[in-house]
Amino acid sequence: MSVIDIHSHRERRDATVAATFKRGLSSYIGGEFSRARSTSFSIVDPATGEAFAEIESADENIAVEAVRCAEEAGHIWRNRSPRERSDVLKRAFEIMIERRTDLADLITSENGKCTAEALQEVDYAGEYFRWYAEEAVRFPSSSSLSPKGDAHMVVQYQPVGVSLLITPWNVPAAMVTRKLAPALAAGCTVVIKPAAQTPLTALAIAEILREAGAPSGTVNVVVTASSALIVRAMMAERAVRKISFTGSTQVGRTLLSQASSRVLRCSMELGGNAPVIVLDDADLTSAIEGSLIAKMRNGGMSCVAANRIFVARKLYQEFVETYVMRVSSMKSGGGFESLSDFGPLTDGRERDRIHGEVVNWVSKGAKVLSGGYLPEGNGNFYPATTVIDLSEEDQFSDDEIFGPVAAISPFDDSHELVERLNQSESGLAGYVFGERDVSYVTDNLQVGMLGINRGLVSDVSIPFGGIKQSGLGREGGPQGLLEYLQPKVLSSPILKGA
Ligand code: NAD
Repeated sequence: MSVIDIHSHRERRDATVAATFKRGLSSYIGGEFSRARSTSFSIVDPATGEAFAEIESADENIAVEAVRCAEEAGHIWRNRSPRERSDVLKRAFEIMIERRTDLADLITSENGKCTAEALQEVDYAGEYFRWYAEEAVRFPSSSSLSPKGDAHMVVQYQPVGVSLLITPWNVPAAMVTRKLAPALAAGCTVVIKPAAQTPLTALAIAEILREAGAPSGTVNVVVTASSALIVRAMMAERAVRKISFTGSTQVGRTLLSQASSRVLRCSMELGGNAPVIVLDDADLTSAIEGSLIAKMRNGGMSCVAANRIFVARKLYQEFVETYVMRVSSMKSGGGFESLSDFGPLTDGRERDRIHGEVVNWVSKGAKVLSGGYLPEGNGNFYPATTVIDLSEEDQFSDDEIFGPVAAISPFDDSHELVERLNQSESGLAGYVFGERDVSYVTDNLQVGMLGINRGLVSDVSIPFGGIKQSGLGREGGPQGLLEYLQPKVLSSPILKGA
């Protein structure tokens, strides 16, 4: 059942928005909230279904203006020393942590996730500023002697230029900072295009950067209800040299094809299809706790969320019984409620899609052991749902569930299972629990990240990303900086002495 005290929920949400946006609520360009008038759209509270804020929707003129501001600011920002850029990022980290409660409330208001998870997201998002403040002063460079001994070769790195950062609604702070922090560390200026469902967090982060000392125009945010049109217009601008996108594989493909006409540098963090594999010698308690984290974190709305859970037949019955018992005690409720374990789905259409998927499985013979119904009342709530006995086709489907629904199936042979899973076109993350055969899975499962006896893979220090159709490039770690740098080779002759 969902729990929500509607009056205190509204009060906290509206107070947060009013306190955060004293300067306006529109796109953020050249250090100002845009004064150009355009049509507006509503931001809807996932917990109540109410429109709680109206925001201007940028048109093409506003979007192009944002690119021009970023281009102009680029001349200043790229010439700041690495130490100066590092200091701005460090200050942004400090401000973010000072404001962690307000930012978390903003995330809960527009995305729906619980306060505890929103606070975790703010901390995680802030870590990208801290990490890249540290990386900013460790610019890569190398030198070598040509094999013939006739030239010195120096490889230096320069910022790629104006970068377009397009982010999804499921993690509205960290998906922004994971791109923004390395871009700024590298000396790039940016235009952020957040998802229409969750633009407020991105705007608040841009304001933090202004306060931290980033020159006007270094960070711009274009908010729009017409993403396809506006992104296309910005990609056509000569100054844009790079696009970094996090979102669905389908939109990623469209953007890759659009980017080809100007041969833009692309980083793509796309959809996942993470399997959980519980081997026959796994510790059942840690396999269940790890699976719950991998499945239920962020209400299942995560690209690295467990999509399907496969359990060795020997452990299957006990795993399913205990998992259902644990998950049935989890409460979906308003994010500000202390009793909630997870919030509503961010988007109402997503809830309908997910429920439709469960109904479809059941029509083919699957059994629902928990949840599986549309709750009455307002908001996009959906209960923690467990489904077994899926058809073979649905067990190995590439479709992302992206919600609090676990599909559990037994398996007999882990090698055959891995072979079958590798037929997937996705390859973002996976999880394995067990001992003896773990190294077989780590060596052979085709994914970019693998949790071993652990339901978590994300961390600021790692190159986060996937293989196959889950993406191109990496975010985080030292590798994340390289996505915003281009090498330049300087070759000079060696004049032989006597
Ligand atoms: P989405 O692809 O619908 O939207 C992502 C962003 O692209 C949003 O800002 C949206 O407004 C914009 N957009 C949509 N259509 C566009 C178009 N035609 N042209 C330009 N921009 C467009 O994705 P979503 O529903 O917001 O997010 C969920 C998806 O994101 C899932 O597939 C999830 O796996 C993926 N995701 C991946 C990662 C990762 O790191 N690999 C992280 C988080 C989410």
